[in-house]
Amino acid sequence: MSRAVDRPLPSRVALISVHTSPLAQPGTGDAGGMNVYVWQTAQRMAARGIEVEIFTRATSSSDAPVVETVPGVLVRNVVAGPFEGLDKRDLPTQLCAFAAGVLRAEATQPRGYYDVVHSHYWLSGQVGWLARDRWGVPLVHTAHTLAAVKNQSVAAGDTPEPLLRQIGEQQVVDEADRLVVNTRTEADQLVSIHHADRDRVDIVTPGADLDTYSPGPGGRVRATLGLASDDVVVTFVGRIQPLKAPDVLLRAAAPLIAANPKVKVLIVGGPSGSGMDRPVALMDLAAELGIDHAVTFLPPRPPADLVNIYRASDLVAVPSYSESFGLVAVEAQAAGVPVVAADVGGLGVAVDDGRSGLLVPGHDIGNWTAAIGGLIADPDRRAAMGRAAAAHAQQFSWEQTAEDLLDSYAKAIQGFRGTVDPDRSGSGRRTRRLRRRRSEVRA
Ligand code: UDP
Repeated sequence: MSRAVDRPLPSRVALISVHTSPLAQPGTGDAGGMNVYVWQTAQRMAARGIEVEIFTRATSSSDAPVVETVPGVLVRNVVAGPFEGLDKRDLPTQLCAFAAGVLRAEATQPRGYYDVVHSHYWLSGQVGWLARDRWGVPLVHTAHTLAAVKNQSVAAGDTPEPLLRQIGEQQVVDEADRLVVNTRTEADQLVSIHHADRDRVDIVTPGADLDTYSPGPGGRVRATLGLASDDVVVTFVGRIQPLKAPDVLLRAAAPLIAANPKVKVLIVGGPSGSGMDRPVALMDLAAELGIDHAVTFLPPRPPADLVNIYRASDLVAVPSYSESFGLVAVEAQAAGVPVVAADVGGLGVAVDDGRSGLLVPGHDIGNWTAAIGGLIADPDRRAAMGRAAAAHAQQFSWEQTAEDLLDSYAKAIQGFRGTVDPDRSGSGRRTRRLRRRRSEVRA
């Protein structure tokens, strides 16, 4: 991986994550991989002596305005709109209030307080772009997902992302100084869909907390879940929503459970987008399929518990319709468990097909039954894949992700200096970007 020599490092970074707090428990509601990404990279940067301040929307009246977490990482809970019950789709109505809170927080600090703004998801990009212009510092943006890409593979019964979001994403792509993506495929998508200049795009691979996620015995967890040592356990971990396709796992597992009562399914996570506190529709599906006796539903778990759930599993299934990267796939492999994943998005990078797991093209239930069933029937292959999975996962670390983000920040700082108009820099204002172009959005 290329390294900038003598790269300019920021002293303090403002991370913007409007719609989900890094302190929330991932795996339910709107909290998922992005929370983990923001939290893990913030800690790794702080460990390098860089101060990180994370701006997020307060979602409880008990949220303190400023929370000191680990040394060097501050979370600023900005009051913008009602604490609870604000649907993600209504968040754009609160961006003005959120931006005001961000700008006010900076205004109480000495001049030049932040060196870089890094926004996560397009809502944050809208705020980051304003902060960038007001503070005179570069904006680095990570989209995490793109509406246009998500809409290419909408699950049955799911709602497509609105055009409003695509327009917002285009604006942020036009405005950001650097764009961070997870994979080469995403870089290509930013160029082909949003006409980003390729030389503004940095590919930064996400990681896993390899200190937490490592192979180990899973027997104790099996016992607490009422699973026998010779059961064959297939696990799903994540937010329960149509996009993640946990229903595909249940349907694919149904004939396997009917043929072999030792086959069990674990579903770990909470509903996202339904407003419910339990995945009722999925539980109903398990009952309809006649496999509810073999399916265990667990609420979202913190990493210290999750690692033991992975270890207690024989396989982890990630059947998503769309996946920017798929942290669960990497974590499960790091815990020594083979992954059967849909061949979509970043899962093709996260899983080494045929070695650390299997990639299944499409969502045909018969194909999924065959892929999972084949591995259930072959314990030796599963064991070999588990060993390969643990080795494969070692390349994904949050330390490396943070290091690569710092490279991106350095390029942003260097490039930004190059755009300052010497006639106007005394006033702290910068020239408009020459590359800015008329927004072009595919409906
Ligand atoms: N997660 C968790 N507890 C749970 C379920 C999920 O901590 O009960 C975490 C999981 O470890 C992973 C993240 O939520 O780090 C999900 O990330 P992924 O990229 O798989 O999916 P996303 O939520 O980004 O769509």
